[in-house]
Amino acid sequence: MEYSPTKMQNLLEKNNFSFKKSFGQNFIIDENVINSIVTKADIDDDTLVLEIGPGAGSLTYKLAQVSKQLVCFEIDERLKDTLESNLSSFDNIDIIFNDFLSADIKSVLEKYEYKKLYVVANLPYYVTTPIIIKLIEDNILPNKIVVMVQKEVGNRFKALPKTKEYNSLSVFLNYYYDIKKIIDVSRNVFIPKPNVDSIVVEFNLKSSRYKLIDEKLFFKIVKDSFKQKRKTIRNNLKGYDLEVIKSVLEKHNVDLSVRAEALPLEVFVDISNELSNKHN
Ligand code: SAM
Repeated sequence: MEYSPTKMQNLLEKNNFSFKKSFGQNFIIDENVINSIVTKADIDDDTLVLEIGPGAGSLTYKLAQVSKQLVCFEIDERLKDTLESNLSSFDNIDIIFNDFLSADIKSVLEKYEYKKLYVVANLPYYVTTPIIIKLIEDNILPNKIVVMVQKEVGNRFKALPKTKEYNSLSVFLNYYYDIKKIIDVSRNVFIPKPNVDSIVVEFNLKSSRYKLIDEKLFFKIVKDSFKQKRKTIRNNLKGYDLEVIKSVLEKHNVDLSVRAEALPLEVFVDISNELSNKHN
């Protein structure tokens, strides 16, 4: 069945589907939005595509048309019949009915041969950040991530220093990825209609990253630096060697009274590496 919003709605109705808010179920009903996401993903035959939350399969359908192989994780088994009948014309889709957050993704991906991994999804809003963090912490590190997310969350992902959205997550993500917004998406293109707007963001894995002597220390320092947003680095990092931190900050023309929100990624890298050098 070729995808169309009306066909999808009819099929859901036929299968007596009731949307579950607790699963973040807001399905896209605008083909232009779906096409923009798929075009931006720019998938080729070397790419394995991972979709988290196929829902009724509308994005999945378009992804399957341009992918050699697609793997999907869907938490809601009630969608099985709808997905099967929507996607029956494809033989390049594997759907795993499991919670993405608790699944062993690496061992699933090991079964496929591919050169690049792309994640393309309209993410469930209640777990957007945990999903992105899992992709990094489980060392899956997709080459590209194109995802629809709640606007405010997306703005934090791509936030730059000295903006109100900038936080420890922005620094963490920026260490691995170049992140940009692709499109704004109105709340009117979903059923049911959510009470927030969305954006589609694209993450591209950095080909070279800053060298870190101790990654764990780096992430701890970043987290601690933003612990109390209105406090200075002197206050938030008082458990660390402030003399070392002061001399790093001076190199970057700031002092201990600066707030974390003003510091770019490279300053956190420098602080972490200098502390590692001094104390190891
Ligand atoms: N891709 C579909 C679309 O765009 O129309 C549905 C997107 S909807 C925002 C999010 C989907 O993720 C739902 O189908 C929901 O059941 C699924 N989901 C929610 N939590 C999940 C989880 N932890 N693991 C896998 N799928 C999940």
